[in-house]
Amino acid sequence: MAESVELPSRLAILPFRNKVLLPGAIIRIRCTSPSSVKLVEQELWQREEKGLIGILPVQDAASDAAEASVGSMLSQGVGSETGGDRSSKAQVGTSDNLKVDGKNQQEVIRWHNRGVAARALHLSRGVEKPSGRVTYIVVLEGLCRFSVQELSKRGMYYTARISPVEMTKIEMEQVEQDPDFVALSRQFKATAMELISVLEQKQKTEGRTKVLLETVPVHKLADIFVASFEISFEEQLSMLDSVDPKVRILKATQLVDRHLQSIRVAEKITQKVEGQLSKSQKEFLLRQQMRAIKEELGDNDDDEDDVAALERKMQAAGMPSNIWKHAQRELRRLKKMQPQQPGYNSSRVYLELLAELPWHKASEESEFDLKAAKERLDNDHYGLVKVKQRIIEYLAVRKLKPDARGPVLCFVGPPGVGKTSLASSIAAALGRKFIRISLGGVKDEADIRGHRRTYIGSMPGRLIDGLKRVGVCNPVMLLDEIDKTGSDVRGDPASALLEVLDPEQNGTFNDHYLNVPFDLSKVIFVATANRAQPIPPPLLDRMEVIELPGYTPEEKLKIAMRHLIPRVLDQHGLSSDFLQIPEDVVKLVIQRYTREAGVRNLERHLAALARAAAVKLAEQDQTVPLSKDVHRLATPLLENRLAEGGEMEMEVIPIGENTHEISNSYRVASLVVDEAMLEKVLGPPRFDDKEAAERVASPGIVVGLVWTAFGGEVQFVEATAMAGKGELHLTGQLGDVIKESAQIALTWVRARATDLKLTAAQDNSLLEGRDVHIHFPAGAVPKDGPSAGVTLVTALVSLFSQQRVRADTAMTGEMTLRGLVLPVGGIKDKILAAHRYGIKRVILPERNLKDLAEVPAAVLSSVEILLAKRMEDVLEHAFEGGCPWRQHSRL
Ligand code: ADP
Repeated sequence: MAESVELPSRLAILPFRNKVLLPGAIIRIRCTSPSSVKLVEQELWQREEKGLIGILPVQDAASDAAEASVGSMLSQGVGSETGGDRSSKAQVGTSDNLKVDGKNQQEVIRWHNRGVAARALHLSRGVEKPSGRVTYIVVLEGLCRFSVQELSKRGMYYTARISPVEMTKIEMEQVEQDPDFVALSRQFKATAMELISVLEQKQKTEGRTKVLLETVPVHKLADIFVASFEISFEEQLSMLDSVDPKVRILKATQLVDRHLQSIRVAEKITQKVEGQLSKSQKEFLLRQQMRAIKEELGDNDDDEDDVAALERKMQAAGMPSNIWKHAQRELRRLKKMQPQQPGYNSSRVYLELLAELPWHKASEESEFDLKAAKERLDNDHYGLVKVKQRIIEYLAVRKLKPDARGPVLCFVGPPGVGKTSLASSIAAALGRKFIRISLGGVKDEADIRGHRRTYIGSMPGRLIDGLKRVGVCNPVMLLDEIDKTGSDVRGDPASALLEVLDPEQNGTFNDHYLNVPFDLSKVIFVATANRAQPIPPPLLDRMEVIELPGYTPEEKLKIAMRHLIPRVLDQHGLSSDFLQIPEDVVKLVIQRYTREAGVRNLERHLAALARAAAVKLAEQDQTVPLSKDVHRLATPLLENRLAEGGEMEMEVIPIGENTHEISNSYRVASLVVDEAMLEKVLGPPRFDDKEAAERVASPGIVVGLVWTAFGGEVQFVEATAMAGKGELHLTGQLGDVIKESAQIALTWVRARATDLKLTAAQDNSLLEGRDVHIHFPAGAVPKDGPSAGVTLVTALVSLFSQQRVRADTAMTGEMTLRGLVLPVGGIKDKILAAHRYGIKRVILPERNLKDLAEVPAAVLSSVEILLAKRMEDVLEHAFEGGCPWRQHSRL
């Protein structure tokens, strides 16, 4: 460290722009201006012994020219402090700066009146430029302060007459005795020590700086410390001016302390920021690496972008806040996973579902117009007056009170009677979207409620899935075939449906897969069923049953002409100009090819006709332009798919003789379906009125009427006897109830065998030596129910009496052991079925008389209804000429 130096009385002066060199500090200066280069050359470079120069701070007063160009005007120095001399006031008029740069600009700079003598520790000369200019790099060490007595010029640079201001050794020793000085020194050292330890912690300087504290006098340390960190120019000047060691140490203590505090604050801030950043930075880094690895493997499928897109989709979904939180948790989990990781996909699919579900999205309910709705229902559906009326009432209530928790409508009826299309008309009338959820065959509760996500291949239930598909939270949702749900070990779907249909509970419907509640309260539910009876009572209780019986042939004809044919033609790209299906032909289709309650098969057959016509049209398209005048067209394609060996002749009837004159390219011809074409397209007739007559050709066979999921049906019952041990055999997939009916029937016949003259008096051996076998044909179809009671008795009486029953008569009714005939259900459907079969007489329990009100008059007028109170009445009506026993008695 700098020892005390002998200062010469004059020093060459290097101006130091806006900076201060303090004793003990080391600086490195590049000298480029001609004056400083000259100074270095003359005062330092060419000397044997390394000389001293003075470094004097200068301050801009007018401009901020570069340091290298310093050195022109002398102005008033800035004298300030204790024991300081007055400032020198030399003014020098020339400026080499001006000469060099050619700028005609007067710079006013202020020289400080106190500087620091410095010794060159190292000198180096830069490469000479082509212009001849050289630069020097000088490393200088500040030694001690001086004050300027007078400035003058020596050639291009300045020199100053100076006087030392530092205390002598003796003076210093005296000061060191001063208790104030001692106290100040101690404080300084403590602060300095603190600073050192903080810095050492950061930079690991291994205690080298601490040695300084012990070896260097405090007043010098003060300068060294302050010089080591950045302080303002003014503070530097004031340090330079602190000639008094006490003042200097005090100032230094303050500055060191301030520096210490600022380091601490900075450290705290960085610690905080680092803490916050490090986790995400780490993730970022890992992600970058992952991406790089993927790119390297050619496996860059931009998963991240996908996840970002998913996140955007989730944000747009408008989930309720609690669900949004849940979704975000799941998303965070997903982000941490690798796509290959198990669970990644399931998590992703789950989030996609959350994002796609219509949490808020609803179809705008348009201003609802009852009249328009009525028109729409009328346009879409023929007949069904009562049903449409009920729907209009339902819609009217909704109009008055949109959030009314009305009953759930449940359309009950055989297939193809328009249940689904009515429901979709409701949706259209309300301006809502329509979604059909098929419940047929649903036995597992998870089908409704979904599987928990812990299961592999788990899925949401059908309701949530449907909502995802439909994309709005207020659709009309059709729960189709609600009677076909059953319960088994996998739970009870009906109880889940109960929750769905209960307005109190469905605001928070819980799907196991979704695992967060979903609000179903805005959904309008409509259900369909083929029969109301299998629907569990609690579920049925929540619904209002609207029955749609089958159609009469006349109604079917109207439906076909008005609705089905136009629709079918449209679906096949045809028009009535090309294909005409006359009413007579449609009647034939109804009579001979369909025997259903609804119109689905009818529609199918009409579609078959339309397809055949479409083929023809397509062929005609190719053929006609070639031969415009040909009237008869060969249609090989059509021929091939028609009945075998058919000498098919399909005639193209030109609409007008001069058609081709109007249209030059080809003639438009209308194809009219006739009976022959019907057989060729649909095959031979499937049904005729003679079926019953042919089948009831021998004793023991009776026509019964039953009620199935397909509406009313005609059911033959066949009984026969053979040698045996008096046993009863029953076949035809019968349920317990029907088996019991058979037992009851046999018991009743045996008990009345004598009265009925089936056996001789006192001879009770009706079954002796023989077995009775009763069969219900269509053996593959399961049958059950009590309404075959009277039919069974009639079959047995016919068998034992060997009398045929009337083939034009069908019957239904339950019978008690004592022979009373009890009422049964589905009368309307059964009569309609009998009518379809061409049956002319129907025997019904007397107490079913009231049900006849529902039967269309057209049907009633063509069917004779015979009412029976007791079994004897049935037998009376069933046999030609009355009951056999009466015949016998008459004999
Ligand atoms: P369901 O749901 O009862 O089994 P759909 O509603 O599917 O029957 O009806 C079958 C077809 O019959 C549909 O094309 C429907 O439009 C038509 N249909 C049924 N009843 C009528 C009717 N009364 N008027 C017009 N078309 C009808």
